[in-house]
Amino acid sequence: MSTPSRSSFDTIVVGTGPGGASVARELARNGAKVAMLEQGSAAPLNGTLGQMAAMAAVPGKGAFIHRDASLLVRAITLGGTSTINFATAAAPPAAMFAAHGIDLEPALAELRAELPMAPLPDALVGPMAARIMEAARALSLDWRKLDKLIRPEACRRGCWRCVTGCPFGAKWTARDFVDEACRHGAVLQADARVTRMLVEDGRAVGVEAQVGGATRQWRAGRVVLAAGGIGSPRLLRASQLLARPAAFFSDPVVAVMGSVDDLPDDEPGGAEVPMAAGASWSEDGIALADLTLPQAMYQAFALQAGRVDRLLAHRRTLSIMVKIRDEIGGRVGQRWVDKTLQPADREKFDRGIGIARGILERAGARHVFASHHFAAHPGGSLRIGDQVDGGLQTATPGLYVCDASVIPQPWGLPPTLTLLALGKRLGKQLSGDAS
Ligand SMILES: Cc1cc2nc3c(=O)[nH]c(=O)nc-3n(C[C@H](O)[C@H](O)[C@H](O)COP(=O)(O)OP(=O)(O)OC[C@H]3O[C@@H](n4cnc5c(N)ncnc54)[C@H](O)[C@@H]3O)c2cc1C
Repeated sequence: MSTPSRSSFDTIVVGTGPGGASVARELARNGAKVAMLEQGSAAPLNGTLGQMAAMAAVPGKGAFIHRDASLLVRAITLGGTSTINFATAAAPPAAMFAAHGIDLEPALAELRAELPMAPLPDALVGPMAARIMEAARALSLDWRKLDKLIRPEACRRGCWRCVTGCPFGAKWTARDFVDEACRHGAVLQADARVTRMLVEDGRAVGVEAQVGGATRQWRAGRVVLAAGGIGSPRLLRASQLLARPAAFFSDPVVAVMGSVDDLPDDEPGGAEVPMAAGASWSEDGIALADLTLPQAMYQAFALQAGRVDRLLAHRRTLSIMVKIRDEIGGRVGQRWVDKTLQPADREKFDRGIGIARGILERAGARHVFASHHFAAHPGGSLRIGDQVDGGLQTATPGLYVCDASVIPQPWGLPPTLTLLALGKRLGKQLSGDAS
């Protein structure tokens, strides 16, 4: 039986990843009464593999295994997937959004002043990333340091915990924006799994959620769905507001790895901030970057690729990420999610893996092998111009979507900065919108 909430809000935001946290923060800063409902836990991040696994490796919750044995990952926790991401910031493709009448530049200009966003200082670029950068540049590739959402003064050389949830406050995560929203009066309910939208007289009026084993209703003037590229279309389907299962992109990745024997003795490698630098072929939808991962993850990749002989080589293995812009396809089902590579996707991988091999060989690496593909950017499942309009509103008045779902086309970029900009823009739009 459901208990109606006595609280009433201007806006309910479902999910606290970059999209949700940004819109909630902007609304709260403008004086709106905001409730944030988050399925995951608000326990402090401790940077352990165990905590990360609970957020992102439980099958059907944070991890989805497709028919072709590839893995898709998201994090169910306060701050969403930003808690475990690699902290790389990339500017949104302006033309893609301009085609829908969306100018993200004003929001981006504000965010640039608000976020810790810059390339890592040389002192924080690990020995493996530096070795890869040197080899790529020797091949005349345009290999540049990438913008990171990291506070260098709190970041430690020789640490990899940004990947499992930085416990030192060095990495920016959407939790920072959630905290700020709360300081401006927003209410946070963690461990609240929203199960459906409430719609009355054709208008969104709230949500129903499972909280501590009880069903509870929350009501508001409007609802912003920000449950991510998988969670949001699922919630629309569960509420009978989406006619068929959504298709999506996932920006699949392969890690290309090879060992060297001559890393500096004082710093053998294997523990560094990933994606310190890289290069992209944006017309072709291919991007490369250094990708040093914690030992357990490296070993999982080596095992999956059948390279038992490389299991003990983690601290000597240079690793390059090849990420491609995949076609939109597959299905977000209510219990499972599935997507397989198309021939065009495979061609991109073949080309990117070839470039990565060339860099590793130039760096003097041997025993080069590639992992199976995996993915971490589900999105494009409720696209602008399809399921939402340029103001991110669905066909149901009062119901908005603000997360990676709304990205209007195949993507291939780190999405976080774009989602923060979309959230800020929506927050401003709703703050000035009395309806
Ligand atoms: C390993 C890895 C590395 C990455 N590296 C980068 C990077 O370097 N740069 C970059 O820009 N991006 C990176 N990403 C991707 C990026 O973090 C995500 O694209 C981004 O977080 C998506 O934001 P979102 O708001 O759409 O969804 P999410 O961040 O997934 O947030 C969705 C939120 O909704 C909650 N939720 C879901 N369902 C419900 C429900 N029913 N009820 C209540 N709450 C719900 C979830 O718990 C979560 O908090 C990486 C991702 C991974 C996995």
